[in-house]
Formats: sequence, structure tokens, C-alpha cells
Amino acid sequence: MRTLEVLESNVRSYSRSFPAIFSRARGSIMLTDGGRNVIDFLSGAGALNYGHNNHQIKAAITEYLASDAIVHGLDMATPAKLAFMNTFNSAILRERGMQYRFQFTGPTGANAVEAALKLARKVTGRQNIIAFTHGYHGMSLGAIAVSGNRSYRKASGVSLSSATFMPYDGYLGPAVDTAEYLRKVLVDKSSGVDSPAAILVETVQGEGGINVAGKEWLQSIQAIAKTVGALLIVDDIQMGCGRTGEFFSFEFSGLSPDIVVLSKSLSGFGLPLSMLLIREELDVWQPGEHTGTFRGNNLALVSATAAINIYWRCPRFSEGVHRLGELMRRQLEAIASEHGNRFAVRGRGMALGFDCHMTEIAEATSRKAFEKGLIIERCGAVDQVVKFLPALTIDVETLNRGLEIFEESLAETLKQAKVAVT
Ligand SMILES: *Cc1c(COP(=O)(O)O)cnc(C)c1O
Repeated sequence: MRTLEVLESNVRSYSRSFPAIFSRARGSIMLTDGGRNVIDFLSGAGALNYGHNNHQIKAAITEYLASDAIVHGLDMATPAKLAFMNTFNSAILRERGMQYRFQFTGPTGANAVEAALKLARKVTGRQNIIAFTHGYHGMSLGAIAVSGNRSYRKASGVSLSSATFMPYDGYLGPAVDTAEYLRKVLVDKSSGVDSPAAILVETVQGEGGINVAGKEWLQSIQAIAKTVGALLIVDDIQMGCGRTGEFFSFEFSGLSPDIVVLSKSLSGFGLPLSMLLIREELDVWQPGEHTGTFRGNNLALVSATAAINIYWRCPRFSEGVHRLGELMRRQLEAIASEHGNRFAVRGRGMALGFDCHMTEIAEATSRKAFEKGLIIERCGAVDQVVKFLPALTIDVETLNRGLEIFEESLAETLKQAKVAVT
């Protein structure tokens, strides 16, 4: 660990929250150098929906590597790329009556968000983007400009502009329809808010605290975008690829976004792969206008194709996610009620948050959980929400064991807090 302190920048983060050297992993279990088995409820911040080293997916990429097929080819055509597009098009899009063009961007989610914003501005000739309170879209300047977190914004070191933040669903309490407010300021020619190129939204805010947008709210946002001539962009980087139950997190609401941003679990194996789905009429790019060396890395496309073929050819997988999600929710609600319901449980599918309302409680709980063998992260404005993102492929026994560790860790934290207070 001293190597990290001496050689790695202070910017490092997860190695601080989870101080161990992780050497191997399979499914939902990570193994440390010290021989400890740890259950993973973080799943690479949602990049490992199918678990670590998923053996079926791994078989596809090891075979591909062994055959000397093209690994890196910029965005040249390869059989791997064609297979991915055909598979995604038939198994994901056509199955859902959707039609989109693919844009492979640089490998990070942030780069895909940048591309989406650039395209929306090019299509509409407008600059402003409507973003939402507590939203998170990545670390490049354009993406930070549409993200809420003040310390990330400050760290960018330049003025961030061309975005207007509006209250997300529920931001002002259950009684206020924040979509109505958005409609009003966008339709009012004297509201002081510039007409937007796009409305950019997450259906569940992953980093922002597992805040959940309702079906009607999302439909209103889509209708408002249409009314004011703005594109609707859904950032499905963390909540897509099955996290909320369906492949896309917006399916339950019947949205048809103009642009969908995918990354994190898209490759299915933790390899970097990002892309946009673009409504065909909006594809006004000139060749090479948004370029990048690592667009559509072939190894990642091979694992992405395998993941779709293995998990998304029939509804069983999706049903399993809903079932496990319900199981988690029930247990978390039971834990909340053990403590007199002073905590809130939120989420959809297998993206759940346990709102401790206090940073210290969430922090101590997650630290204790790690000591007991569970990796679990926090999110929210002041990191007060414990975030549950287990692999969608986790077995019930491991899931229950992880939830038990959380329950014990929370109980111990509260007991110690009480002792500290009295
Ligand atoms: C992680 C994330 C991003 C940024 O992706 P990176 O690969 O870290 O650049 C953007 N939006 C959402 C919703 C995310 O969860």
C-alpha cells in the first residue's frame, strides 16, 4: 500500500475506501492478497453487471484473442464490429420496436456524453442544455458542466457554462411537480432560461443518491422536450444494460429518447466501451467530426456481443433481475423498519439506495462492512446514501450474506453512535 502513497497521485479514491490489494475475482466475490474473500456490491460502479470474469463471456474473448483477429483497428470495419451491431440491432432494438444508429465514441462514458451534447447543439443550433439537480454525467469539461456536484465543478478550474439546472423529480418534495416548473420556464419567453438544445436526464440518479424518476414525470419531460424543440437525451450509462430490470432503464416509462448514452456494463466484461444510439434523422455528423483512437475496441465488442447473446435473447434474465431486486428491496425495507423507519429505501430493479440521511452513519457502515467482507459504496450529495449495485448474476445466498453484513454493520454503527452521544 506504501507504493500507492508514494507513487500514485492523491487523486486516487476507491483504493482509499477499500484498503486492500485485490488479486482475483469471480462472479460477485473478490479475493485479496491477504486471502480474504469479499462480496462485491459495487460491481465496478455498475460496469460489471454480469459479474467479474464471467466465464461464458470470457470464453468468447479468449477465443477471439487466440485467433489473431483484429483487436485495435480504430473504427475500421471488422467482423467483430459487424457482429455486435447486427446482434444489438436484432436482439435489443428490434425486439423493442426501436430504431437507432450507432455511434461508437471514445471508451469513457464521459466521452459519449460529450458526443451527445455536441450532436444536440449541432442539430438545434442552440447551446443551452437542461440538466437536473444531483445529476452526474462524467469528468470532462462538457460533462461536468451538466453535473451537479459542486466539488467536481470547482475542480474543473474553468467557468462551466451553457447548462441550466432544473429540479429533478421529487427534489422539492412529493407535492411539487417539478416537470410543471420546467415546462413553465421553457415555454415562458421571458423566464431568463435560454431555449435548450437538449434535456439530459438519468431515469435513476446513480451517483446523485439513487433518486428515482417516476413514469409520468419522465413522460412529461419528453413531452416538454418535444414542445420546445429540444432533444431528449437519456444517460443510461449506469442504469442501462439491465440494472433496473429491462435492458434500457426507460423502457418502463415508454420513452423514446432522441439519443441514448451507453457505457459501463455495455461490454459485459468490464472492458471500456461506450456508444450513442442516435435517432436516424439526427445523424447530421460530418465524417470524423467526433473522433477518437479507441472507438469501438474490438475485444470489448466481442464481449458485448457475447453478453447480449447469453443474457438478452429471452426474458428470463430480466425476470430474474426484477425478482432479486424485489428481494433486496424487501430486506432493506425490513432493516429500515427495525430502526424505526428513520432511513429511506429507494431504487428500481437492482439499483437500490439506503438513505442514512447522515454522512457519518453511511461512512461508518460502509467501512465496517468492508472489514466484515463486503464492498459497498456511498452516493448522494453528501455521500449519505449506501448504494447497492450487486452483479445482476449474483446468487441468492451471496446476496443474502451481503445484506446480512450490511445489517450488522449498520446496527453496530448506530450502537456506537448512541454510546458516543450519551
Ligand atoms: C459513470 C457515469 C458517467 C461517466 O462515465 P465514465 O466512464 O466514468 O466517464 C456518466 N454518466 C453516468 C450516469 C455515470 O454513472
